[in-house]
Amino acid sequence: MAGVSSTLVGEDVYVKLLDEVISKVSKRGSVAGDRVLELRPNLVSDTKNTALTNLGQIAKTLNREPAHFARFLLKETGRAGSISGDRLVIQGKMGVDELRKLIDLYMKEFVRCPVCNGIDTRIVSEKRFRFLVCDACGAKNPVRRI
Ligand SMILES: [Zn+2]
Repeated sequence: MAGVSSTLVGEDVYVKLLDEVISKVSKRGSVAGDRVLELRPNLVSDTKNTALTNLGQIAKTLNREPAHFARFLLKETGRAGSISGDRLVIQGKMGVDELRKLIDLYMKEFVRCPVCNGIDTRIVSEKRFRFLVCDACGAKNPVRRI
């Protein structure tokens, strides 16, 4: 009756290999799960408008198109605005704290890989869909179109 217990054999999944791959890549500095981004948004306000004067630099640090990041800011805050050169002019007042929160939201949705938390990602268009593709772990997740 030795065959009776054969169904009890389980499957063990080892994630050690993955850990090794991640630590190897980390040493080269290209996995960015804990990389600190130098984000210094520069805001200038008058009574009616707020201008983000280093839109290009912020977008470059986030590795995204300035227009994409700008659309997100305006959409999330429901404000009107326009890009003029390296500036994004937003109607109304916006403080640095509010902008930082928006940058965090943007990173969470459009920059950070939800699987490995890395930021070496790209937004890829396929027909009418957009995907966040991670260059570190290969994950591909749908993101909304903005
Ligand atoms: Zn990833």
